[in-house]
Amino acid sequence: MEQVIKFPNIDLSEVKGILIDLDNTLYHYDGCHLRAIKECYYHYKKHFDSTISFDDFADFYRRKRDIVTKRLSPAGACRSRLFTFQEMFEELNLNNNWQLAAEYDTIYWDSIIENMIIVRDALVFLEECKKLKIDVCVVSDMTANIQIRKLQKLGVGNYIKYLVTSEEVGAEKPDSRMFKTALKKLKLKPQEVIMIGDSESKDIKGAESLGIEAYKIFVKNT
Ligand SMILES: [Mg+2]
Repeated sequence: MEQVIKFPNIDLSEVKGILIDLDNTLYHYDGCHLRAIKECYYHYKKHFDSTISFDDFADFYRRKRDIVTKRLSPAGACRSRLFTFQEMFEELNLNNNWQLAAEYDTIYWDSIIENMIIVRDALVFLEECKKLKIDVCVVSDMTANIQIRKLQKLGVGNYIKYLVTSEEVGAEKPDSRMFKTALKKLKLKPQEVIMIGDSESKDIKGAESLGIEAYKIFVKNT
């Protein structure tokens, strides 16, 4: 049975290090994504196709995202929005498709980063870890640059000792290399840390395969 926990209920008494996911754990990605895609849509509608519906644009984006993910997984670039937009604009036969791709990639990520808000319980939890001198390592499937911008925007830079991204490791969760890299940076053993994340298949299964106790987090939508 799937068990979920809230941040205040995580027991830190025997814990020397924390591994923690970023997206949909420290902030609500899904809502931010929807707003970001809408911004890209409005931009596209204004400049290229005034008749296209948001659903059609979003479906087109999703289809191309899946293609890019499949082609490049598990390389960090499999998460690339830039390549997703590039595929879209190539199919649409737009001039300057690759320059537009960079422009839309910027619109997308600037929107995400502008609208993201730290989950209150997560912030309190990270403050508590700092007080208890428990080192925290973020373990995330994404390119490093974007995740660094997100963590800085969330204002948690001082609470996070290390960052492990799939771009750096060349593998994605639940691959054990992601968790082993985090343990190596923290200089800790699996029994000395816990993993916290929202994804059963990635965060929880991945950590548990190495004997790391894992908590599936439930964060309230604010
Ligand atoms: Mg997540």
